[in-house]
Amino acid sequence: MITDLVQIRMLGEKKRDENERFRRHMKSRDYSDRILRRIAEGIEGQIDCTLCANCCRVATATVTGRDVERLARALRMKPERFLADYTDESEEEGRILRRTEESGCIFLNGNECTVYEARPDSCQKFPHVVRGAGSIASRMWQFADRACYCPIVYNSLEAFKEQLKFTK
Ligand code: SF4
Ligand code: SF4
Repeated sequence: MITDLVQIRMLGEKKRDENERFRRHMKSRDYSDRILRRIAEGIEGQIDCTLCANCCRVATATVTGRDVERLARALRMKPERFLADYTDESEEEGRILRRTEESGCIFLNGNECTVYEARPDSCQKFPHVVRGAGSIASRMWQFADRACYCPIVYNSLEAFKEQLKFTK
């Protein structure tokens, strides 16, 4: 199991093409989602996200209307005020949590999410290997990218390839 973030970045980039090939391979094959999910759960169980928080530094977090209401309530402010003070509109992703150059998500303090109980649904399900709608294969379109910064995704993909005897 590799958890060092420098190594994850290097290996994820090195395997980017291979991981893309694996994603296409998964889409065209029959496999047991249940087995892959169990493998990913095992990996997730061995990684402490509170020691990592790399996704909060690197990735954007999208917010739905329901997320905005929940977060605004938690921060005791009106949703309109929350939208203006804590979110931005992204051309590709729509409404996202505001980010800063230094620390990533505006709600990240060190490695701690300061709105953890009210965090957006997209954060709760991240990195979308174990949790999410549909099959694992249907959620794989961003995994080659996430394998460059998320230890859960990197190690899950490696374990999936081994389980399915994917030719590297
Ligand atoms: S989901 Fe991945 S990147 Fe985010 S904190 Fe957990 S291991 Fe780190
Ligand atoms: S809301 Fe919390 S969990 Fe989501 S990106 Fe920001 S700091 Fe991370």
